[in-house]
Amino acid sequence: MTIRLTAGRMMAILLFFSLLTGCVRQESSEKVRVVASIEPLAWFVERIGGERVSVSVMVPAGGDPHSYEPTPKQMAGLASADLFVKAGSGVEFELNWIPRMLELNRGLRICDASTGVRLLPMGEHEADGDGHHHEGGPDPHFWLSPANARLIAVNIEQSLVAADPANRDLYAANRLRLDGELRALTAELAGRLGAVRNRKFIVFHPAWGYFARDFGLEQIAVEREGKSLTPVQMASVIQTARDQGIRTVFVSPQFSSAQAESIARDIGGRTVQIDPLSRDYGNNLRHAAESFVRELR
Ligand SMILES: [Zn+2]
Repeated sequence: MTIRLTAGRMMAILLFFSLLTGCVRQESSEKVRVVASIEPLAWFVERIGGERVSVSVMVPAGGDPHSYEPTPKQMAGLASADLFVKAGSGVEFELNWIPRMLELNRGLRICDASTGVRLLPMGEHEADGDGHHHEGGPDPHFWLSPANARLIAVNIEQSLVAADPANRDLYAANRLRLDGELRALTAELAGRLGAVRNRKFIVFHPAWGYFARDFGLEQIAVEREGKSLTPVQMASVIQTARDQGIRTVFVSPQFSSAQAESIARDIGGRTVQIDPLSRDYGNNLRHAAESFVRELR
């Protein structure tokens, strides 16, 4: 009897508090307006910010962050943004446009998602072009490593707390939960990819260097500086594929794959699409891992 009464009282208290928080939320219902430069970063903002944030993305799905130019509407929209999340790893779109964004919006708060990440140099297969498109800089595609993803989450949490300190506990709890998921994802992918025998793969755009490092694979990239390969370079890639028994050329939706198709034909193989810029980060890495397991065997 006493216990029932206490339980009833507990329910009343819980109800009271949930009503109370409902009221508080309505009073400060203004969401934190976040602009992310690329789709995967928006996923982290959504996971950590939850209902407290509204997120838009500069480089649209299917767009190429190495050459994208924001629309005038996007540039104007930054005036009402509370936070801009950049990759910070040398993506050309950011190098070209963030100085202009800051010129127009002096107070714009910027989160560098790659703070604390050890950026890798471009692999030797990519760096030997004349004036490669990631010229002199590091490999910018650090987000495709789930180990790096844990740092992205920390950086975004810190920036959201700075922009909206009242909700720091919510951001901390969401980030902690995401961290657990990312650790589980890393273990899951390591398990799946551990069984792959042929660990070298050919990919058109060199986006998977960090992923390869994390899981003991070796990326051989076709594209150099976003340019078509010379016949000599084509022949060299085809020879490598034959030497290594590689039958698959991985391509991404953002880049023309005519040359990749041609290489695939020459080695009697095929092209398979994996996306370095999908918004659905966790499932996308799972999908990529499945493709590697299936194609590399
Ligand atoms: Zn890229």
